[in-house]
Amino acid sequence: MGPSIMRWQVGGQASEIVIVGGGVMGSALAYWLTRLEPGLPVTVVERDPTYRAASSALSAASIRQQYTTPVNIGISQWSVKFLRETAEHLAIDDDRPDVGLHEGGYLYLAGTSGAPVLAAAHAIQRAHGADVALLCPAELRERFPWLATDDLVSGSLGLSGEGWFDGYGLLTAFARKARSQGVRYLRAEVVGLERAGDRIGAVRLDDGSRLACGSVVNAAGPWARGVAAMAGIDLPVHARRRTVFVIACRERLERFPLLIDPTGFWIRPEGDRFIAGAVPHEDADDLPLEPDYAPFEAELWPALAARIPAFEAARLERAWAGYYEMNTFDHNAIVGPHPSLANLYFVNGFSGHGLQQAPAVGLALAERITTGRYATIDLAPLGFERILEGRPLLELNVIG
Ligand SMILES: Cc1cc2nc3c(=O)[nH]c(=O)nc-3n(C[C@H](O)[C@H](O)[C@H](O)COP(=O)(O)OP(=O)(O)OC[C@H]3O[C@@H](n4cnc5c(N)ncnc54)[C@H](O)[C@@H]3O)c2cc1C
Repeated sequence: MGPSIMRWQVGGQASEIVIVGGGVMGSALAYWLTRLEPGLPVTVVERDPTYRAASSALSAASIRQQYTTPVNIGISQWSVKFLRETAEHLAIDDDRPDVGLHEGGYLYLAGTSGAPVLAAAHAIQRAHGADVALLCPAELRERFPWLATDDLVSGSLGLSGEGWFDGYGLLTAFARKARSQGVRYLRAEVVGLERAGDRIGAVRLDDGSRLACGSVVNAAGPWARGVAAMAGIDLPVHARRRTVFVIACRERLERFPLLIDPTGFWIRPEGDRFIAGAVPHEDADDLPLEPDYAPFEAELWPALAARIPAFEAARLERAWAGYYEMNTFDHNAIVGPHPSLANLYFVNGFSGHGLQQAPAVGLALAERITTGRYATIDLAPLGFERILEGRPLLELNVIG
């Protein structure tokens, strides 16, 4: 047994790293932990192996470089490289998973009021190496002749490193590879965390049993606040429903990116259809996971047709709903140990951009857990401390 494994010995017994939740975060972390330290005892406790309500299965699964904080840009740069090479990283023998990354770009559009923000964001992104271009209306018309540009001042287009992929495919590829590296997936619900001084000593399961642990990771997605509360911790992560509409459009619209309109909607191609969504006016917690169709006809469709006239003849085919795990404090992820409970880690609150961040965040947190330090990417700006100290990490580009 190597010295690294010795670190996981407590009282002469190997102590488990228990991950609560086996969505993309829990599974990416489990993969990286056992990739960095083969033989590390890791258990993922997942209450629903079908992932029926998990965000990772209901996501729009897109990736952008267009953030305004260096930490988010760094995470995306690293994650897109991983997504391009998923087949190598997550292969099991000859089975090479394909997550279908399509680098179609994000296009943020701005009118008079939004243009200065877009220009400021662009300067930050360029300074941190993002491959983005700021386009004027004539350049937008040239690239996207199907776009109405009369009210636009500029558009910011990702030239590489942005697009969309198979999010559920990424989750299952991480989970299968993690299992092949010895991670145990346990079908159970975590119903309690047992505190022993400034540590968590065990997790309690819904069948009445308990799992002693060396560390616990809260990877419970939209339900993370409930898991934190089991340790008496207030985590500002709320389950906020988002509806995704699947739309058919007869016309062929070339080079269609993921477009974000100044009115607040987003749309991108999905196979030979499109998917689209918008920020709801009412945003209560824990609404039932049923799509809210009303805004489509009332608001989304008119806004879509105004921006892309071909959508006047579009047809709504169906819709689904999933939860954003919304960090209501500052809309950014909360990653790392709790300052006063050193063996309880968080990987929560991704607020609509978790799938794309999972490859890099999983690696960085695995480094933090196994060595006590971040190496590949410093995620300290995403630490829990900022919540306790009231220091929000402000990001200009949030897609509600
Ligand atoms: C409509 C929509 C669009 C999105 N679009 C994008 C996008 O374009 N790009 C992007 O990067 N991200 C996007 N996201 C966000 C992304 O999907 C999430 O950030 C990511 O999937 C979160 O992964 P997770 O593993 O933390 O959570 P989940 O996938 O929800 O997994 C959490 C798991 O924990 C389990 N669990 C919870 N509590 C317990 C417990 N007590 N015991 C045992 N198990 C438990 C649950 O069953 C669940 O399987 C979108 C999300 C939605 C809903």
